[in-house]
Amino acid sequence: MDINSKVLALKYRPQTFNQLVGQQVIAESIFNSIRNNKIPNAYMFLGIRGSGKTSAARIVAKALNCENGVENLCTKNFCNSCKSIIEGNNIDILEIDAASKTSVDDVRELIEFSRYKPTSAKYKIFICDEVHMFSKSAFAALLKTLEEPPSYLKFIFASTEVKKIPVTIISRCQRYDLSRVNSEELFKYLVKIKDLENGNISNEAIKLIVKLSEGSVRDSLSLLDRAMLAEKDGNELDLAAAQKIFGYFEKSIIIDLIEQILNGNEDNTLKLFRSIYKSGVEPKVFLNEFLETLYYLKNIDFINLDGKNFDLNDKEFEKIKSLSKKIIKKDLLLLWQFTFNNLEKIDIITNQHQFVEMFLIRSLYLKKILKGKTNSKIEGFKNEFNLDKNKLENKAELYQETVDQLKRVEQEDKIETVPEVKNETQGIQINTFEELIQNFRKGKRT
Ligand SMILES: [Zn+2]
Repeated sequence: MDINSKVLALKYRPQTFNQLVGQQVIAESIFNSIRNNKIPNAYMFLGIRGSGKTSAARIVAKALNCENGVENLCTKNFCNSCKSIIEGNNIDILEIDAASKTSVDDVRELIEFSRYKPTSAKYKIFICDEVHMFSKSAFAALLKTLEEPPSYLKFIFASTEVKKIPVTIISRCQRYDLSRVNSEELFKYLVKIKDLENGNISNEAIKLIVKLSEGSVRDSLSLLDRAMLAEKDGNELDLAAAQKIFGYFEKSIIIDLIEQILNGNEDNTLKLFRSIYKSGVEPKVFLNEFLETLYYLKNIDFINLDGKNFDLNDKEFEKIKSLSKKIIKKDLLLLWQFTFNNLEKIDIITNQHQFVEMFLIRSLYLKKILKGKTNSKIEGFKNEFNLDKNKLENKAELYQETVDQLKRVEQEDKIETVPEVKNETQGIQINTFEELIQNFRKGKRT
């Protein structure tokens, strides 16, 4: 295959420790241990998909056997050992994917492999991806070899699910937890790759890719691939185009929607939601985005757009900032809790679209309750809430109050009709004898 036609993730697969994106601390420590000849019997690389586990495993294998030594590890003109590792035909290396080979027979293959000394290289290396998929008996067989391996045998394991690996295995390995790659680093890396590939993609669009790939280098490269394929006639691919390609909808429409809810406008609220739904957004995704937007509205004062924040683009940031000034933060807490409660319930609903519409309508109702526009029973509840305001000095109390209030709102929801009970004296405080007389006279007049 022509190297230029390869997908980016393969084309830019890291070949040396320096090229491992976002894992520099781990890379340095492994490099030093090999250079100082303090090589463990087994390595265990743990981390999310696309964090560089398999790449790290291959680099370690190459570093252990490279004809030029770890300090001059091949980067371009590969030695025989490195070349055969890259091509996957090195006879001293056995690479298996435990996702497809889980039986004890597969481990026997390993035992057979480990019986003889390496033919050409320094070490025989057993690389096993997704090692947590091994069966119980396979682990037992593996453990025997792992307990007392011959000096020429090294193990390199990789896994996304550490909890499924027996501790007896883990404790015999040198463990490395590969972290999610941080946004800033991933952004710089993608810009570099884009330039190497002569891509024409705006920084805002690349930031969206960073956000969507959630710290996975491989995911980010495959998204970049898609973005570059969509470039037309050398025109720059901007944020709007990227959002379309990845089926991502802008937060700004949710910000508008929240504004309409807080304004109590049912028509506009539903119109906005239907336009989001029509664009193909799943109701559950919508609720999660809604929740996230509420978080930003509440906390925007503590967030800076200093190039490190990739969750919001400039436009969204400004919009949230200006709306947050008009909102009572207490309302946001209430709405956040209400949304969260609904998110818990959405999975048991068949028609999730209708469920979210009802959720939005009920949110409007929630706001009306706060404004005290509804019947007297709720008016009383509102008064009670306001009377308690003075004691709500710390946040914990405020939060509890919000939760309690929410519970009551939900109870109110259950009562379909509330009889209009007019009680003139309700809410009137009488402190002096004069006030009592005045109130008595007022009552007589009506
Ligand atoms: Zn080499």
